[in-house]
Order: sequence, then C-alpha cells, then structure tokens
Amino acid sequence: SASPVTVLGLGLMGYALADALLTAGHQVTVWNRTPAKADPLVARGATLAPSVREAIESSPLTISCVLDYDTQHALLTPAAGALHGRTLVSLTNGTPAQARETEAWALALGATYLDGGIMAVPHQIDTPEAFLFYSGAQDPFDQHHPTLSVLGTPHHLSTDVGVAALYDLALLSAMDMMFAGFFHATAVATSHKGTSATDFAPHLVAWLTSMLSMVPLMAADIDSPAAPAYAQSLDLVAAAAQNMADAAREAGVLPDHFDRSVTALRQRIASGETEYTAASAVSQLRVPARG
Ligand code: NDP
Repeated sequence: SASPVTVLGLGLMGYALADALLTAGHQVTVWNRTPAKADPLVARGATLAPSVREAIESSPLTISCVLDYDTQHALLTPAAGALHGRTLVSLTNGTPAQARETEAWALALGATYLDGGIMAVPHQIDTPEAFLFYSGAQDPFDQHHPTLSVLGTPHHLSTDVGVAALYDLALLSAMDMMFAGFFHATAVATSHKGTSATDFAPHLVAWLTSMLSMVPLMAADIDSPAAPAYAQSLDLVAAAAQNMADAAREAGVLPDHFDRSVTALRQRIASGETEYTAASAVSQLRVPARG
C-alpha cells in the first residue's frame, strides 16, 4: 500500500505535488504558512499539521517545496530534531552549493537527504511530460521511488548531491534564453505594422523546432576530438550577427546582445581564429582561470 508522505509548502507547485500524492492513494500530511490553502486537500482526505515538526513526524518521507532555501532552512530549523531517521527531499529551487549545505545539515541530524529539481509546471505534475532530477544517496531514492514516481519521471543523476540543482538551473537557463530570444524576435517582427505576435509565432515555433534537431549533433562535436561535423566561418557568423544588430536598431529594438556578439566574434577573428564551432562557442563562455 502507498506509504505516508508529508508535503511542506502549498504554493502552486507544492499544492500540485500534494494533490497528485493524494490522488495516488497516499496518506498525505501537509503544512503551509497560510493554512487555508490546505482546505481543498483536507476535504479530500489530507491531514493539515499544526506545525512543521508535527508534519515531519507524520511520515517517513517529507517533501519540501517552498519559495527558496533560506525560507526552507528557517522553517526546518525549529523542527530539525524530528528529521532523525527520516528522509527529507527538497524540491525547492536552489543552487548546487545550497544542496550540499542542506545535505550536510541533514546528515548531521541523522536524516537521509535527496535534492531534487522539478522539470515541469504545476499543471504538468503527474502527467507524462513531467520529469524530476534527484541527486544524493541512492538508498533513499530506491526506497521512495514509488512515491517519487507519482510526481513525474524520476531521474537519479548522481550521488553527488549538487548535480540535480546543476542540471535544473542549466535547463532553466536554456529556457530563459529561449524565451529572451522569442521576446527579441517578436519585438523585431512586430515592428512591421500589420504583423501580430500571433501571426509570427508559428514561424518561430517551426524554426526553433528545426534548429533543435541540431543540438545532439553539436553536442557530439563538443565531446569529440575529431574534426567537427558542424562548422561555419567566423567571418560569416560575425556578418550575420552584425545584420541582427543592425536590423534590431532599424526596428527600434535594443541591439545590445548582438553588439556584444559582434565585438566578441571580431576579437576572435583578430586573434587568428577562423572557425565557429559548438566546442569553441562553449569554451568562450568559460571564465578564464586566474593566472
Ligand atoms: P509559490 O509562490 O506559489 O509558493 C511559494 C510557497 O513558499 C508557498 O507555500 C508560500 O507560503 C511559501 N513561502 C514563501 N515565503 C515563505 C516564508 N517566509 N515562510 C514560510 N513559507 C513561505 O511558488 P511555487 O509553489 O510555484 O514554487 C515553489 C518552489 O517550486 C520554488 O522553489 C519554485 O522555484 C519551484 N518550482 C516551481 C515551478 C512552477 O512552475 N511554479 C516549476 C519548478 C519548480 P504561503 O502559501 O503562505 O505564501
């Protein structure tokens, strides 16, 4: 039978997690700063705990999903003694360093700890699109796998507890830059009177979808010492970046990103480089080690 589970935090995401666990037949205990958010869950059979400590004491597994790690730490500290012999899973968004600190803190209390990242929006929880990254000890992941599987496909990435947050934030960074690209493209295209964002969007979706198929090929190039399958001349890439900057300017859109690209590409050309490859684009991003 489904094991008892506690959810701390009933914001949009925590609520979706608790709701999915209830639907799957778990005995769910919840706690939230604003207790009224638990009402519909309680009506469906969840138990609202009067304190974080009592919430943790109700289950072998506590899933925490609040605003950030500072909030989470402040909530857990007065209830820390209750974690002994129990498993804490943080699905609060945070950095690898915060995951490592929290693991050390939990281990010192005699708890087991998993750090997680939710790759879904609340309405996708408990659907095939949802996947979650976990890192930390293998044992609690294996033990709680059936419960964690309710939320979305669980991927245990590493016993290094920081890796889930690293991948999570890497993917969020890619999403953020993709949306920034969408916003920029839409500003440029809709500078033409008569073009709406809605008119333009299908072209953008088709283009980005087609370009996404390049990702595995470029990734293989990045990993391989052999000559890259995909390369362009730096002159060509710099000329295109210049056109993107100028077209933005003509459209009354801020060209800053492309101006910086042009400057960086021209510096590479001036230093004798000729090829634009995925591997060189990635290595350009690394902060140089201090000599
Ligand atoms: P919400 O803003 O909807 O909820 C925030 C939660 O944190 C609420 O439970 C809130 O309590 C609680 N909280 C905030 N400040 C405090 C405080 N000072 N003391 C106690 N509790 C506090 O956010 P989400 O539920 O959407 O997000 C929760 C976590 O999930 C975040 O780390 C987020 O990055 C992550 N996440 C969210 C996704 C999304 O699409 N929404 C996607 C993937 C991850 P109260 O109800 O009382 O305000």
